[in-house]
Amino acid sequence: MRCRTVKLINIAQEIFELEITKPLGFDFIAGQYVDLQIINPKLSDNMGDTRSLSILSSPNDPTIKFLFKQGITAFKNNLKNLKEGDELSITQPKGKFTCKDVAKSVFIAGGVGVAPILSIIRTQTSIPKAGLFSFSTNDSAPYLEEIKKYGKIFITKEKSKFINRRINTNDLAPYRDKEFYICGSSAFISGVLLMLENLKIEESKIKTEDFIGY
Ligand SMILES: Cc1cc2nc3c(=O)[nH]c(=O)nc-3n(C[C@H](O)[C@H](O)[C@H](O)COP(=O)(O)OP(=O)(O)OC[C@H]3O[C@@H](n4cnc5c(N)ncnc54)[C@H](O)[C@@H]3O)c2cc1C
Repeated sequence: MRCRTVKLINIAQEIFELEITKPLGFDFIAGQYVDLQIINPKLSDNMGDTRSLSILSSPNDPTIKFLFKQGITAFKNNLKNLKEGDELSITQPKGKFTCKDVAKSVFIAGGVGVAPILSIIRTQTSIPKAGLFSFSTNDSAPYLEEIKKYGKIFITKEKSKFINRRINTNDLAPYRDKEFYICGSSAFISGVLLMLENLKIEESKIKTEDFIGY
């Protein structure tokens, strides 16, 4: 489905928020993703012109938003240089990282893995407090003022007014009766899964969205 760039904002250090037009008839469930293709890209490489991106915005928003980290591929350079009106193509929404009952869930995000989780949380009428959000530095953490309302913030690589370490087993233990929603890089997800295994959390209670490629 064809759409156009509306706006690109540098929302945190090396982190960008992309807003695009919403094609007629595009309906999704919070937590899903699309494959996004840049039409007529300026740069090309052998990694191609399409990537999976989770939807950051909520289903009722008039436009679609994404969150991405600056990178080194042609795709990321093209993405970072999109201008208003530039043409893109998206697939129908995909994925099963959707949440039936936010009150029975805990959300664990690493870096830009916060995108589908924010889509889920922003769609709720009452604010859930069960979130663990991990970022490497203060400056690379987007939406901090908003996110701190949803739970705990961990800054792993420098001092900050938030929790200055990685998420550990003790942080997860209080949520053992909840459904776990984990999103981030493959390394981040593996680390959290190992801790949940140590806590003997059943696999059926865990949903992951692995941002393969980071
Ligand atoms: C279901 C799904 C949903 C996804 N949702 C999102 C999303 O919402 N947002 C998102 O950003 N990604 C998302 N991804 C990942 C996305 O599809 C890409 O794979 C990812 O962003 C990497 O993009 P890239 O291949 O262009 O590589 P790049 O971003 O260019 O990175 C390529 C490699 O280089 C490394 N690298 C990057 N910058 C530097 C640097 N300056 N110096 C040294 N090394 C560097 C990276 O860590 C990576 O290993 C999702 C993936 C899946 C499967």
